[in-house]
Amino acid sequence: MVVTSPVPASVSEPGVAAALALFATGARLSRAEVAGRTGWARVTVTARLERLLEDGLLESFESRVNGRGRPATHYRLAVDAGSLLVADIGASGLRVARCDLAGRPGPSQHLPSEIGDGPDAVLGVVRAGWEDLMEGAPPVWGVAVSLPGPVELSTGRVVDPPIMTGWNDYGVRDELATWFGTTAHVENDANAIALGEVAAVTEAGGSLSDVLVVKVGTGVGAGIISGGQVLRGAAGAAGDIGHTEADVAGVRSDRPLCRCGKLGCVEAYAGGWALVRDARERGLEVEGLDDFLECLVAGDPVARALTAEAGQVLGSAVATTVSLLNPEQVLLAGALGLVGEHLVAGVRQRVYARSLPLATRTLRIQGGRLGVEAGVRGLAHELSRRVLLGAAAG
Ligand SMILES: [Zn+2]
Repeated sequence: MVVTSPVPASVSEPGVAAALALFATGARLSRAEVAGRTGWARVTVTARLERLLEDGLLESFESRVNGRGRPATHYRLAVDAGSLLVADIGASGLRVARCDLAGRPGPSQHLPSEIGDGPDAVLGVVRAGWEDLMEGAPPVWGVAVSLPGPVELSTGRVVDPPIMTGWNDYGVRDELATWFGTTAHVENDANAIALGEVAAVTEAGGSLSDVLVVKVGTGVGAGIISGGQVLRGAAGAAGDIGHTEADVAGVRSDRPLCRCGKLGCVEAYAGGWALVRDARERGLEVEGLDDFLECLVAGDPVARALTAEAGQVLGSAVATTVSLLNPEQVLLAGALGLVGEHLVAGVRQRVYARSLPLATRTLRIQGGRLGVEAGVRGLAHELSRRVLLGAAAG
């Protein structure tokens, strides 16, 4: 049983919400510091902080400034007032996690599930997984999932996904909001990874505002953060690098059919399903992507050659994207993106050969730092923003 509770009303009260926003990213501030940052009168600061304390959104503690002088009352977000539940749903497995209100993931678990079994089955697995994580936890204030397909921004619906049988036009966000009666958010999986990687850098005190994440698992997709914002496009379809037409000059001469029904997409050469297909054609006995990855790690020459080709094909598409967007970093994610240097090497080679020096001289291309945790981290961060900052989060 998942217990939910409404988010306190003060979250959407003007002024009070602005005060909460100061603490949403983990800051610990005294009244004087709040006044200094906002220019509010002392009486206004006190009234707004008292309101947030009353609603259980902030907690107070005594602390000396720089460890010296008389202790002063400080305030911080009451991160355990509510729980946030997130699920990073992949093609053949999903990860559920419970997070605190600041978006820091707590307990999580990986569960088997096939995306092609349809939304009722997959969301049923998610719900059961969340229930397992809720024992003794604070009530739920919001839920979020990511999906390996195109998600319409305005409605949270999945639109014409190539592999997701039964998901077309399914209102995932509305369904979750109805089930739990809380804020619900649906994100594309590569966007969630990009948000997670950026959140981790920011929380460690660094900055990363322009990053391209390319997820290569069963399929291929990209998440783009540009100028600190997720670049979603007009309808939410931005980043669909996997179904752009591949440039295979010097690498391949065939033009295979893609899962989307078109010929010669990047994914039809570099996606996990395509590598499994090609490996079988070249005599390797592999059932699925996990088998292929095992062969690759064990040094099988066919698996290595195919992955090198995939890196070159993917690299051409990434080079075009780098020229258009000028990111600081390109991070590879997903099962194939994270398996050592096999794919990264080909991508690097193509990008440095094709993009202009101004775009590449400080560019870093590497595997994602957070590994398989990146998706839940990004979802938690985004959900925290949406729950605590409400309409202001956009
Ligand atoms: Zn395609």
